[in-house]
This record gives sequence, structure tokens and C-alpha cells, in this order.
Amino acid sequence: MSDSIKYLLQESDIPTAWYNIIADLPEAPPPVLHPGTGQPITPDDLAPLFPMAVIEQEVSSERYIDIPEPVRDILKQWRPSPLYRARRLEQALDTSARIYYKYEGVSPAGSHKPNTAVAQAFYSKQEGVKRITTETGAGQWGSALAFAGAFFGLEIEVYMVKVSFNQKPYRRAFMESFGATCIASPSDTTESGRAVLAENPDSTGSLGIAISEAVERAVQRDDTRYALGSVLNHVLLHQTVIGQETMKQLEMADDYPDIIVGCTGGGSNFAGIAFPFLGEKLRGGQDVHIIAVEPANCPTLTKGRYAYDFGDTGHLTPLVKMHTLGSTFVPPGFHAGGLRYHGMGPLVSQTAELGLVHPRSYTQAECFDAGVQFAKAEGIIPAPEANHAVVGAIEEAIKCKEEGSSKAILFNLCGHGNFDMQAYMDYFAGKLYDQEYSEEELAMALSGLPSVAAAA
Ligand SMILES: *Cc1c(COP(=O)(O)O)cnc(C)c1O
Repeated sequence: MSDSIKYLLQESDIPTAWYNIIADLPEAPPPVLHPGTGQPITPDDLAPLFPMAVIEQEVSSERYIDIPEPVRDILKQWRPSPLYRARRLEQALDTSARIYYKYEGVSPAGSHKPNTAVAQAFYSKQEGVKRITTETGAGQWGSALAFAGAFFGLEIEVYMVKVSFNQKPYRRAFMESFGATCIASPSDTTESGRAVLAENPDSTGSLGIAISEAVERAVQRDDTRYALGSVLNHVLLHQTVIGQETMKQLEMADDYPDIIVGCTGGGSNFAGIAFPFLGEKLRGGQDVHIIAVEPANCPTLTKGRYAYDFGDTGHLTPLVKMHTLGSTFVPPGFHAGGLRYHGMGPLVSQTAELGLVHPRSYTQAECFDAGVQFAKAEGIIPAPEANHAVVGAIEEAIKCKEEGSSKAILFNLCGHGNFDMQAYMDYFAGKLYDQEYSEEELAMALSGLPSVAAAA
């Protein structure tokens, strides 16, 4: 076993194709349904929303899809990203486990999100789109798309969940530096926003509401499309550069993961690191135990229902089968803004349903305890979202110590927390209490699932 703590690849090692897990799943994913007819959706139905190339990827069952050279050229700015062996953390934990983390915080926006933002901006540009609308929770996705939009000369309009908009002024400035427009959601610029404000003028917003606003703006104009930073198949696909690079890096380390841990908001960074390994397992390769970690107060995979639901609160999107807390569910405020979505990526949901992925949840306090322990040992302050992966990995490493086993644990450090210092300030001030979600509200949101769910 090598002694290195960092495994670096060459530019030529950036994957030339994305990996599509659908090719290796034991059953085809349930179709996406038209909200009006309840029938499987056609590419034409989606054309007002997404570029055609992206729609084709959304429904493709090809195992590998080529990465366009202009996209790879931009990815070269920060990829391949480093894989670290967390030797100092191993020492601090006094564990017999080998802990590795892939670090996606080296991207310009500080997370994995630019991996798909660049691809989506490229396809939009190629198809003559002038403007892209989107939503952002913590601001990571808006930052990534703003960056990608600047490279392709696209206008970017971002609806940012109001609570984050107020908490994170630097994120807004970041987006504006790239020429993007950032609007607090719910806003009075759309019908869906106005409807929410009429009912609750003090609404702090949610991803579901912001998606409705962005979708509404996109379908209004022919030269505008919408982009999503997580959940959908094509987004998960674009993130598989993470896992594919990691495979090569672990070869350099002469190692293979027994356990993979990722945090799940909509599931894209998790799928990015886990699916290439899961595919190998499904094709008869080595076994690997895959753990998806989510926040205890937005427990989509652990407490949600696997059912058809809308992607947004205003019910403008198609219906997808996924683990969901109900499209009207608004989780209590907590600091991992990127993990506050009511649904989960359909492919992550399906693999969890098939028992190929094992979900669990942690409270905020547990996550920040782990994040600070990690920072002290490894010198990187994780994003609050990434802290969920960190605590999962640490818990597995402690288990190894107790069992006296020596396993290789791999996790995705999907972003740094340098824009999230308010969350750390609250943690250090002891103000990071966990607000339970309301069981009543959850039951109500679930009872409002579209009726197709009953038929399916
Ligand atoms: C957006 C984001 C997430 C959540 O999205 P996924 O699609 O689940 O990856 C997690 N971590 C960071 C750093 C993010 O920016």
C-alpha cells in the first residue's frame, strides 16, 4: 500500500465519457409522467424546458455518453480533482480503517456543481438558447451556473430561496460577479411566487417554490431554458466524472473501497461518486457497501414515500417516481441548504428501493461535530452538506476500530464551507439546535401526493 496522502491524475485522465447506471440496473426506471394525462412523457413535452441533447441524456440507456470536447476543456481548469488519504484523521480516530476522500471543493464555485453546470450551459448554447433560469438553495448551484454561463455568454437568472438569500449575501455577490441576476424567492416576478406570498407574506421560501418560479420564467420565452442542479438523470450522469476519476486514483493507491459514503440532497454528488462503483458491482465486480446520508430534519430517503410526485410546489413539473416528503413539505430551517429538497433523484431512490444503497440520517449537531473534527485533522472546512458524508465516514471508521477490521472507506467531500461561516459561527455559539420537522405537516404533504401515485 502506498504512503501517499494525495493522488493526482493528469488532464488526459479526465473521463472522456459519462457513465450511465441505467445500462446496468436490473430493471428499467419507472417512466416520467405527464402531469395532465398521467401518460409517459415525450421528448417534445420537455422541449420548452430543456435543451434537446439534455432530454436525450435524461432518457438514454447507453452505458457511456461522450463528453463534448469543449466541456472537457473547461473541466480541465480544476479537474481531475484530488483524492486524499485522510491519514491525519485516521490517526485522530485511532482507527484501523483506511479513509479516502475525493475533494470537489477545488472547483471555481467550491463544489461539485460546476461538473454539470458546464455541460448544461454548453448544450444550451449549442441549441441557440440565450437565457437560462434556475433555482438555488444554499447558492452553490446558482454560483456554478453563473460561472458556466459567463464562459458561454449566456444570461443566467437565479431564484434563490429567501432564507439563504438573506443568510448568504456573498453567494449573491459571487453570482453577480459572473453577470448573473439573483432574485429572492418567493418573489413577485412570477405567478407562482405571488400565489405563495398571497398565502404567506413571510414565506422564507423553499427549493420547491423557487423551482416553480424558474420553470414559469423559462416556458414564457422561446429563447429561454431551465436548468436543474440535481435530482434528474442527466445531472447525476454529468457527476460521474467524480467516481470514474476516483477509480483511477484508488488504482494508484492499490486499493478498492469496501464502503462509500455520500451526502444526498437530490443525490447528484452521491451518485457521482457511487454509481461508477455500483455499476462495476452490478456487472459482477467487487462488492461495495454504499451509504447515503441525509439530514434528520429533511429525511427524504429514510422517512419519505417512494411514489410519483411533482418536482416543485406549484405543480408545473412532470411527475417522477422518487422518495418524497410531498411537494408542499417545507423542512424547518437548518444550515445544510443544499439538502432541503422534498424529493430525491429517481435513480438514487430506485437503487435504495432495490437495496443497493443504504440510507441513514444525522442531526445538524452531529454533522458539525464531525466537520470540525475533520477540519482540524485535514485542514479543509467542509460545506455543511458535506459534513453529512464526513460524519457517516467517521462513524464507519469507528465501527472498524470496534470490530478490529481494516476496511477502505471512501467519501465525497463535495464542497468547502468557506462561504458557510455563519453556520459555523452558530455552531460555535451553541445556537445550532435541531428543530424537528412537523409530523403533521409531513402527513399533510404526503396526503397531497398526486393521485397517479395510487394508480402506480
Ligand atoms: C448542492 C449541494 C449538495 C446537494 O446536492 P446533491 O445533488 O445531493 O449533491 C450537497 N453538497 C454541496 C456542497 C452542494 O453544493
